[in-house]
Amino acid sequence: MTVTDAHIHIQPFHMMPPAIAATFWKGKPNRAELESYAADPRKLLARMDADGVARVGLINYVSPDLMGFTGEANPWMVRYASADPSRLIAFGSVNPRFTQDVAGETARVIENGAKALKVHPPHQLFRANAYQDVLPGLGDLYRVAESAGVPVTIHTGTSVFPGARSRFGDPMDADDVAIDFPGLTILLAHGGRPLWMDAAFFLVRRHPNVHLELSGIPPSKLLEYFPRLEAIADKTVWGTERPSPGIKSMRANVEAFRELPLSDRAKQRILHENAAKIWPS
Ligand SMILES: [Zn+2]
Repeated sequence: MTVTDAHIHIQPFHMMPPAIAATFWKGKPNRAELESYAADPRKLLARMDADGVARVGLINYVSPDLMGFTGEANPWMVRYASADPSRLIAFGSVNPRFTQDVAGETARVIENGAKALKVHPPHQLFRANAYQDVLPGLGDLYRVAESAGVPVTIHTGTSVFPGARSRFGDPMDADDVAIDFPGLTILLAHGGRPLWMDAAFFLVRRHPNVHLELSGIPPSKLLEYFPRLEAIADKTVWGTERPSPGIKSMRANVEAFRELPLSDRAKQRILHENAAKIWPS
């Protein structure tokens, strides 16, 4: 079974300010190893080989005021993924709170090589549907992604980083995005965990263009959070959120997932086939 892990964190860690870095590195005894992946994509590719992972989604988002990630994170990520773009899926990002020309900037980020966009409401400090009132530019981001056929992963669920606004993690805000941009492929990262799993499940069932993305959910909890996962297996995408605390390795999570009482067909679709449709190359 081929595996695509659509959500791991290899980022320009050096941009994080001290309080954020302290939270990020807490509970991660292997900091040096993680920094070595960020310094050299060949090391990550070797890790993927060892873990039996064919492709990874490299999460990246612009959040200069909270996480320290500036617009420079985009070229950094594309350069990183250029080591093997067939296996390293570069996420790009535009933060409409810091950009005048959101449409132009989004088009540039995609043209320069981003295969997906990340929207992180609790860390970028706007609601996923803020284009309806305070942040019209956010609508330009979705519109450009929709017409370019580039998927958008939206963080749903809480966050423990200092300054993060967890209330912006309510997946229900993505209901508007799904309706207003029907051609846009939307992935709900973390399925609203740990507060809003029912809302996430509803949206995946309700909207043809909304998918569930499983990162951050321990496989042992998955069927507790989503008891009817089998019913949405055609619209669910695997992810781990590595290197969050509690994740031993990408392989360990896949092995734990394979033990769950789901059909082989469902497991195959979730681990790889659905992601292969979203990112054919
Ligand atoms: Zn994440």
